[in-house]
Amino acid sequence: MTDQSPTVAGVSQHRALVTELPGPRSRALMERKTAAVASGVGTTMQVFAARAGGGVVIDVDGNHLIDLGSGIAVTTVGNGAPRVVEAVQEQVAAFTHTCFMVTPYDGYVAVAEALNRLTPGDHEKRTALFNSGAEAVENAVKIARVATGKHGVVVFDHAYHGRTNLTMAMTAKNMPYKHGFGPFAPEVYRAPVSYPFRDDKTVDGQVAAARALDLIEKQVGAENLAAMVIEPIQGEGGFIEPAPGFLPALVAWCRENGVVFVADEVQTGFARTGDLFACDHEGVVPDLIVTAKGIAGGLPLSAVTGRAELMDAVHSGGLGGTYGGNPLACAAALAAIETIEAEDLANRARQVERLMKERLHRLAANDARIGEVRGRGAMIAVELVVPGTTTPDAALTKEVAAAAHRAGVILLTCGTHGNVLRLLPPLAITDALLHEALDVFADVLADTP
Ligand SMILES: *Cc1c(COP(=O)(O)O)cnc(C)c1O
Repeated sequence: MTDQSPTVAGVSQHRALVTELPGPRSRALMERKTAAVASGVGTTMQVFAARAGGGVVIDVDGNHLIDLGSGIAVTTVGNGAPRVVEAVQEQVAAFTHTCFMVTPYDGYVAVAEALNRLTPGDHEKRTALFNSGAEAVENAVKIARVATGKHGVVVFDHAYHGRTNLTMAMTAKNMPYKHGFGPFAPEVYRAPVSYPFRDDKTVDGQVAAARALDLIEKQVGAENLAAMVIEPIQGEGGFIEPAPGFLPALVAWCRENGVVFVADEVQTGFARTGDLFACDHEGVVPDLIVTAKGIAGGLPLSAVTGRAELMDAVHSGGLGGTYGGNPLACAAALAAIETIEAEDLANRARQVERLMKERLHRLAANDARIGEVRGRGAMIAVELVVPGTTTPDAALTKEVAAAAHRAGVILLTCGTHGNVLRLLPPLAITDALLHEALDVFADVLADTP
């Protein structure tokens, strides 16, 4: 097995368990973690990483794990992607930080140019860079408020936008993201989303949009609304893909009513869904688009890109931050974007979708606990329910994920009800590894009562 497996970033692309999981070194590290790290910082896996490459993570005991998580949709170009490693090494030797707001550098400008070119729409754009997804979402709201002179922000059921005060207010799920952390920022309103698996069959995209817009008009009023913020496919909320027509109807309403339409593509961006951005799927052109996660091959970077007249409405000095657009992160982003374009990773994501869905639909046909297989590209969800109902089965979901972890597959869960398994492999993963991970998944599902 080892001999035939290709090597990426020095890591043989195969699964191998040389100890039980977690092994002795991971267990010792977990003891130190418990004693030293705040317990509010949880971990999905019980093993500690030692190195990673392509679609494999090697733990401190030498086990090779198959990565179906990509560090939460971050290492889309693969872990240790060769172009990213080289670009960062070159940049770290040149300079590590000057602060773009003090002594600017070209990497930041080049990332802004790339995002202006690649994001949906051919209007004139500007970009500002930040560190995290939440920080970029906050800045999109700041920009929309200044540009419109209004305050209200509408978000949706099942939304996830981050863990800062404003983005906690925007996030739907209480536990664990919000519980006990309030009071939250005001002027945030929640509307119903389109969730085809849980909506009545009569609720198509148009009907779901009308349902949301009616509530917004009655309870908020367009004249009070600065921005509508939505994930084109909801991530943490359960990989919820709205019915066709839902997003275009929302955008049309925002245009008519002077509301800034903000697409939070932090999880869906950069080829993850089989298009460069998930908005591209239905030709949706957001006024502002927020990106992070997959942008820089694992280095912390985020961005707000949008209409020049909105972005430039903010006074000089109003946007920024000490580390925003750090030179190492910018070098990594340029290399990640080059990789996505040169290797046509959007096409690779569509291949991954075909492979995973073909296998998962076959599993679903024989297992009534699988309520739905959905998603686009390398962002695929399996929603687990009590057979014959849509009642969420969070306990089964947790057990299946834990069994997959013990078998050497990094697998994440999501969903407001905690009953969705999400498959987010790096696009550098081989078909052989994907098949093996799906074999493991089928086995653990069969073995879990
Ligand atoms: C992860 C995520 C965020 C928050 O990003 P951080 O970098 O963790 O702050 C915001 N929006 C969406 C859709 C996300 O998936």
